[in-house]
Amino acid sequence: MQADRTSKPCADRRIHRRPVPHESFRLTQFSAFGLAEPILRAVSAEGYTTPTPIQSDAIPALMTGGDVLGTAQTGTGKTAAFVLPLLHRLHSRQIRPARRHCHALVLAPTRELAAQIVDSIRRYGRFLRPTTALVVGGARPGPQIGALSRGVDIVVATPGRLLDHLGSGAVFLEDTTAIVLDEADQMLDLGFLPAIRQIMAQVPAARQTALFSATMPEPIRRLANAFLNHPKTVAAGPVSWPIDRIAQSVILVDPATKRGHLIKTLGTAGVDRAIVFTRTKRGADTVHGHLQKAGFAAAAIHGNKSQGQRDRALGAFRNGGVKILVATDIAARGIDVDAVSHVVNYDLPTVPEAYVHRIGRTARAGSQGTAISFCDPTERRLLRDIERLIGSPLHTENWSSKAPATASGDSAASRGIRCREPKARTRQRREARPADEAPDAGLARMLCPH
Ligand code: AMP
Repeated sequence: MQADRTSKPCADRRIHRRPVPHESFRLTQFSAFGLAEPILRAVSAEGYTTPTPIQSDAIPALMTGGDVLGTAQTGTGKTAAFVLPLLHRLHSRQIRPARRHCHALVLAPTRELAAQIVDSIRRYGRFLRPTTALVVGGARPGPQIGALSRGVDIVVATPGRLLDHLGSGAVFLEDTTAIVLDEADQMLDLGFLPAIRQIMAQVPAARQTALFSATMPEPIRRLANAFLNHPKTVAAGPVSWPIDRIAQSVILVDPATKRGHLIKTLGTAGVDRAIVFTRTKRGADTVHGHLQKAGFAAAAIHGNKSQGQRDRALGAFRNGGVKILVATDIAARGIDVDAVSHVVNYDLPTVPEAYVHRIGRTARAGSQGTAISFCDPTERRLLRDIERLIGSPLHTENWSSKAPATASGDSAASRGIRCREPKARTRQRREARPADEAPDAGLARMLCPH
């Protein structure tokens, strides 16, 4: 299969916003896609009435059997955009997978996202009942080997663990004719490129490949050029761009007052379910401890937690047992929890793209959300990077040298988000950070140790 090497590299790190096709060229009914009836029934059972823009663009492209390069974040309906055509493909072929083989493969960067994709496959495929296997690190390999040995319609895997199973002969990819690389940019960030290359080398050249990425920096374009064959490019357009529905603000604070401001902010009316992001694992534990001391029902999730702890934290957050989840960027992507009213960036992320992923945890499935970011003087450069990435200045309030406001009164959420540029730059104060407070990034080993 000839790789398409004609695309121009895009050196720009800004989020790739491709103009969306005119609405009149878009199919606005699921029934117009030619999907099999049991799939349409499942979509209807989900309560989906109209396809999201990424679904309108990607589903017809995937139904033709061609390759697709998609720019879309989670929260835009991306999972259904690739799962529905995948289910249709399997349904129309009606071939049972051979033992230790799979017909379709979805690669995802984290265990949580992979588990969520399996869940979506089960929901969208409830009337087809495809066989699935979740192949991720941090879980016992035995049951995975057992599931693979029977032959599987769709394997959803993190790259490292899949490579282990390929190495031991637990699974072969020679019958795999459809492959999806989801959240490709995070897979690269996590250092999965060598594993992806090894996996792709084992998939037949005559295949359909879809690659989805929240951002389209040059390394992703290179990856697409290497593995995709004349892909149709699709993008979740501005209509579904979650940032539009998120009230964003930056609060300039002194480091010593951050904690107090956080507690007051979270105590404000309207903060129903919030994710607080910290840069480091230690930071997450510290903030979690403070919140518990202040009487909040909170849980923490980061790369040093065991898989069981991570599942319990996410489960409690999902079912309402705790209303605050303190997280490192491990949870910034893919986690689809309904009705997250607020995202609070206790620390700004060192990688500006992570800002977009973090705040995308709110305003999901068409709802509104609020993102509040604390920025101390040591983080101004990170703020500038974020503003450069999203292409506009963020609304900023200067709370430096200000005691934390009371919960009932003067907090960000209760005052609403006012548009004010920083009045004056406070004196830059560099703080030495302990060496073990490394950002919880490069999580490949921790997320998917195998
Ligand atoms: P995703 O981007 O795949 O994580 O999807 C985000 C959320 O949107 C999930 O809760 C889906 O159930 C929901 N969703 C996906 N497609 C649609 C649709 N066409 N209409 C309404 N909700 C949808």
